[in-house]
Amino acid sequence: MNPSLSLQIPSPVQRIDIDLYREKNLEVYIKREDLIHPEVSGNKWRKLKYNIEQAKKENKGILTFGGAFSNHIYATAHAARYFGLPCIGLIRGKYVDLNNPSLSAVRAVGMQLELLSREEYGKKEEEDFLEVLQKKYPDYLIIPEGGNNAKAIEGLKELGKEINDLAFTPDLILVPAGTASTARGLLRSIPKQSQLLVFSSLKGDFLNDRLVLEENENWILQTEFHFGGYARVNADLINTINTFKTQTGIPLDPIYTAKMLYGFHALLERGAIEANSKILLIHTGGLQGILGHNIKYQAQEELRIQ
Ligand SMILES: *Cc1c(COP(=O)(O)O)cnc(C)c1O
Repeated sequence: MNPSLSLQIPSPVQRIDIDLYREKNLEVYIKREDLIHPEVSGNKWRKLKYNIEQAKKENKGILTFGGAFSNHIYATAHAARYFGLPCIGLIRGKYVDLNNPSLSAVRAVGMQLELLSREEYGKKEEEDFLEVLQKKYPDYLIIPEGGNNAKAIEGLKELGKEINDLAFTPDLILVPAGTASTARGLLRSIPKQSQLLVFSSLKGDFLNDRLVLEENENWILQTEFHFGGYARVNADLINTINTFKTQTGIPLDPIYTAKMLYGFHALLERGAIEANSKILLIHTGGLQGILGHNIKYQAQEELRIQ
């Protein structure tokens, strides 16, 4: 791949040694997918890798979708720049602020943006809509929102392979979920003895329908730590982020990884995690979202991420 994109792969694994874990005799590790690359981080790189390969092979640019603070839009814009691929982002909402930190960064690296009304955006998976879009942009590979397609899951299997290569086999692997593509890639690639705990960042249990498609049945979906739904937060959640950062030096994002960690600690307090377990947390990245979060909540001290 392009030598100017220097990626830290395999992503580093570090032990987290805090009182809470020591008291319960747990060995807790975190796989720092957030450190793969400062801009093209976490599961979004895993998802993009084979999509970018295809775009390069077909000599195409990349066109994709996302919200005004999307980690996927951010990662795609930066990856496309490194690989010299033109790219277009279709953004949800006619009136989003093009100068928010995420969107100004992606524009600065050359992503062309188009704002779609929420209604139009809602059609982004419909065949007719995609056909018209492909006709309008014949030289672009269209990647769905969040980067979620079959190629994405292929890329995520490489994360599972890195877990197989560790010196230990985790009893539990914890991962946050939006669409659960990351979780599905892991189910196809992690050791069979490792149980996958999937923490939904969205309200509801609809991710069950996706996870049951996988052959590996060693997973549990956790649906109670959504904090009201996608991108919703409260002071408890933000406190978890700030405390964990102080204790370990590890930053968490408010949308995904913080909800996983909060859920993990809640399960621990309830005695739902067996003592002496080896636990691997997957840090899926998403830290670019903190800037936007802090602007949104600048008037609410208790919701600010330090
Ligand atoms: C996109 C994203 C997720 C969700 O991944 P899915 O594969 O959609 O479940 C989790 N964590 C971070 C940091 C993300 O950016």
